[in-house]
Amino acid sequence: MTDTQLVIIGSGPAGYTAAVYAARANLSPVVIAGSVTAGGELMNTTDVENYPGFPAGVQGPELMESMREQAEKFGAEVVYDDVSTLKLNPGAHEIETALGARYTAKAVILATGSAYRELNLPNEKKLSGHGVSWCATCDGFFFRDQHIAVVGGGDSALEEATFLTRFASKVTLIHRRQELRASQAMQDRANADEKLEFLLDSEVAEIHGDDALTGLTVRSTVTGETSELPVTGLFVAIGSDPRTSLFADQLSLRPDGYLNVEGRSSKTAVEGVFAAGDVIDSVYRQAITAAGSGCSAALDAEHYLADLEAAAKQSADSLGEAVVAAPIGS
Ligand code: NAP
Repeated sequence: MTDTQLVIIGSGPAGYTAAVYAARANLSPVVIAGSVTAGGELMNTTDVENYPGFPAGVQGPELMESMREQAEKFGAEVVYDDVSTLKLNPGAHEIETALGARYTAKAVILATGSAYRELNLPNEKKLSGHGVSWCATCDGFFFRDQHIAVVGGGDSALEEATFLTRFASKVTLIHRRQELRASQAMQDRANADEKLEFLLDSEVAEIHGDDALTGLTVRSTVTGETSELPVTGLFVAIGSDPRTSLFADQLSLRPDGYLNVEGRSSKTAVEGVFAAGDVIDSVYRQAITAAGSGCSAALDAEHYLADLEAAAKQSADSLGEAVVAAPIGS
């Protein structure tokens, strides 16, 4: 068992920013970064053009590597492992990892982010890795000169769709409404892309294929009519849900599934447990807002630990005074 001041669970912009601040405050944070998901969702992104400080844009993985490097430079320990059990006990929260490491922490920052949504259609899971994917930057290369479909109407879907036109012969974006949710800049770029076509007011009704994807049945959300789309790639980009399974039974969640924090702070209902990033944010969900909330969580944890230390010192001092004041032999 390793006793620590602070364990940070998660390694997206929230987790790494919390680590930078906590490490600079000499808290020697341990970051449990994840075994395959270290760096979070930005590891699956290409150009990040709206992170301040990078006028020419920055690649998502490069940004995350820089954050990790910065945190380690100040003394954070980054562990590439997954938390398997978390027991929240104020004063000594217990963390166990999949590889069997065990920690106690006076404070914990939960920065577990969010997980990709699924369409929940038959064959979706079976054909995952065989034509169905959630990550264009990871898998796009395998679909050279093929016809690919992307589902979703947000920034992720449009970003994936435009990225995929680098490889695909054609990309069809399927969105359930007429209006796209994505930002205007993203829409303008997509509209200018000749390899990208839009199938609006439409949804995927069926996914076909035994060993590999062979096509989709697409249904109009207006008329209910169906048609066949003979694609060999399907990228699902319909948003994500907060990752709370580790602590859902110990902390209060909002009706939409996001973790509750106190007002504008990062404090959860359990003493010494703080939260940051996408797991608490159903509204903004940007790398920069996640980084900002990671900073807030580190500052909240730092103040909490300082108060804890002051209280411990005060009680040690008063115990010392009581011992001195007591007559010998009493
Ligand atoms: P999102 O904004 O929540 O969009 C999800 C899209 O998927 C929506 O268009 C939604 O349709 C659709 N959808 C949801 N459930 C569906 C279902 N079951 N079947 C079919 N369609 C479904 O998610 P996101 O695009 O992943 O973006 C998340 C956040 O990250 C946003 O704040 C976004 O701005 C940000 N982001 C930013 C960048 C960037 O700036 N470079 C890149 C990626 C993401 P409706 O529109 O009908 O609800």
